[in-house]
Amino acid sequence: MQQVDLLAIGSHPDDVELGAAGTMLLAKKLGKRTAIVDLTRGELSTRGTLETRERETRAASAILQLDARHNLGLPDGNVEVSQENMLALVKYIRLLRPSVMLTPSSNERHPDHEDGSRLARRAAYYAGLAKIATTDDDGKPQERHRPLMVLEYMQTYAFEPKIIVDVTDVFEDRMRAVGAYATQFGRSQTGEEIPSKEPQTFLTQSGYFEWIEARARTYGMMIGVKYGEPFASKEPVGVRDFFTLVTRTVS
Ligand SMILES: [Zn+2]
Repeated sequence: MQQVDLLAIGSHPDDVELGAAGTMLLAKKLGKRTAIVDLTRGELSTRGTLETRERETRAASAILQLDARHNLGLPDGNVEVSQENMLALVKYIRLLRPSVMLTPSSNERHPDHEDGSRLARRAAYYAGLAKIATTDDDGKPQERHRPLMVLEYMQTYAFEPKIIVDVTDVFEDRMRAVGAYATQFGRSQTGEEIPSKEPQTFLTQSGYFEWIEARARTYGMMIGVKYGEPFASKEPVGVRDFFTLVTRTVS
């Protein structure tokens, strides 16, 4: 049984770790089932090989305690928002049947992130239409399913968040999940720099890890906790009990 509560979509393996690993870990603490669908294998990355990236992805998945992780196998650098790709993602949404779906950010530095965001949003909608026909791997017609909530996680560019999740309790493991991609960030899981002859990139520049932590600290501070993970939503977010939303301990 593949059904999960929370499904996160990433354009490249490591996108979800960078933007939403804390929220994925918190869901596990609450006893929920979680999954990631990566759209590409990140083969255009300057550093590392497909093999190292796959090994690192497995290590990160273990840290996140994911119940499932799939890869759509789209070409890195060409995440087309096409009907074919949309249907391929609809198939996973109907297989995994999440209540909440996390997508890349719609206003981004990397074109694959913006395209992944649009593709995921379209797929979340069309997965709910009965006349959009898909079949599972055994050729059986799939039941329609639409996630109840779709949130965008923050990537390089900041946005005005609709929700900030308190990830203080899981922050260490959150950073370990990012650190699992040692070839991409040039850091160990505990954050030490790993000397390498490979070229420097946007991700390995000095200060990138510190920036991730500083951002989490920035958004945490806004809600009165140490570390926060921000999310955007195009829809209004409803609550039944607003007292559970109080995270501050001082006013
Ligand atoms: Zn990416």
